[in-house]
Amino acid sequence: MLCIICRKDKDDMSDEHVIPDSLGGYYHIFNVCETCNSKMGEKVDSPLVNHKLTELYRFAQEIEGKKGIVPNPFSGIFLEEGNPDVKARVDINKEGKLEVLYHPAIKLTEDAGVVQSIEIAVDSKDEGRIDGILQKIVTRKGIPESAIIKGERRREIRTGGVGGRWEIDILKFKIGLLKIAYEFAVDSIPEFFSDVDAIKISEILKNANYEGAKEYAKIGSGLQPEIFEPFVNYLDLSSRKHYLVLTPAKFGLLCLVKLHNLFSIGIVLSKRKFLDFTETVIGVNDIDGRSFRKLRIPDLINECMGPVHTRFCYYFHDEHERAKGEPEVNSPGYRYEGNDKAEIPLYKKNGERYPFLAHQLLERSVCQSRKDENWQIEVFWFDEIQEYYVKSVGSGNMYRVIALEMSREQIRKV
Ligand SMILES: [Zn+2]
Ligand SMILES: [Zn+2]
Repeated sequence: MLCIICRKDKDDMSDEHVIPDSLGGYYHIFNVCETCNSKMGEKVDSPLVNHKLTELYRFAQEIEGKKGIVPNPFSGIFLEEGNPDVKARVDINKEGKLEVLYHPAIKLTEDAGVVQSIEIAVDSKDEGRIDGILQKIVTRKGIPESAIIKGERRREIRTGGVGGRWEIDILKFKIGLLKIAYEFAVDSIPEFFSDVDAIKISEILKNANYEGAKEYAKIGSGLQPEIFEPFVNYLDLSSRKHYLVLTPAKFGLLCLVKLHNLFSIGIVLSKRKFLDFTETVIGVNDIDGRSFRKLRIPDLINECMGPVHTRFCYYFHDEHERAKGEPEVNSPGYRYEGNDKAEIPLYKKNGERYPFLAHQLLERSVCQSRKDENWQIEVFWFDEIQEYYVKSVGSGNMYRVIALEMSREQIRKV
């Protein structure tokens, strides 16, 4: 089997996680070889998974890693503001809250090599360690036990802030996003695999070429959810989900990647489009539902929209006709032929049936779309060359129709 990264025929295929596990990813593919999988885990996934923002995100969202541990984004040593001798660390306590713990600070006052005083400052939680620390200093300095006069223990509440410095990577993490987009595209559009750019991307991933990745991951900084704007009506961007959208754009094949509210990026995968808009593939990774699935635009619309309601626009030639017809077409029991089916016959004024049905007329009608709150309304205006009539089931009366309105209510987001 061909590995989609090294493009060699390999038989050690692995379980590749398109979206890393530690981010709550549930999308698996099985056409990456063992070697490429582990190499990418180290060089491609890691800048994304170990990104400072990812650690902060996993901390805030309480997403556990493989070992069941939520990362501590504040790990490392912090210095107290204005007092660089005092070092602190920030821990996550049992309740998942952050807690500042001071490292023991030792101050020795010496005079001509003779220790005059020892000051030991520890965090209140570490009070039990004072004697041990003292013992160590005493032994190291060779101070006789008898010379020690233990002083008072003081309690101090520190109010100063603790500061630290983070380095935030703005380049390397993009290769992790490029990998997601590339694997999603290869898995969804088989022809994409042999595209010139697809070949280049697989090399970039194989060699962990961070600069090269930047050339493809070029829409948005990686932190701009606005790029998902065109899909806000259908995708529930506030939910705990990751979204992948593979869609044609002016400049070629575009993959939008949104990892919950962490990273959002647009990746231009190819100069070729490969898809029509309706073939757009949407990947939905539900973190809480522990699932991944793919949808196309028609599936998305069917899932999000309620049933189609249709009604005709009637045309009355004069007031007399209106007075006669309006009560019937507006009455709750009114039905025209084909009312409950998609096949609605149309008639001429003289009662002769047209050789086509109403929905076939729609193709040559002028369509007007509008949105009214959650309703998507389309009005198809029939050509004026001929007169079209529908027949009432109850009375057998014929009524002239000039347009058909189809409306659907949006009932949910995906
Ligand atoms: Zn490989
Ligand atoms: Zn797996």
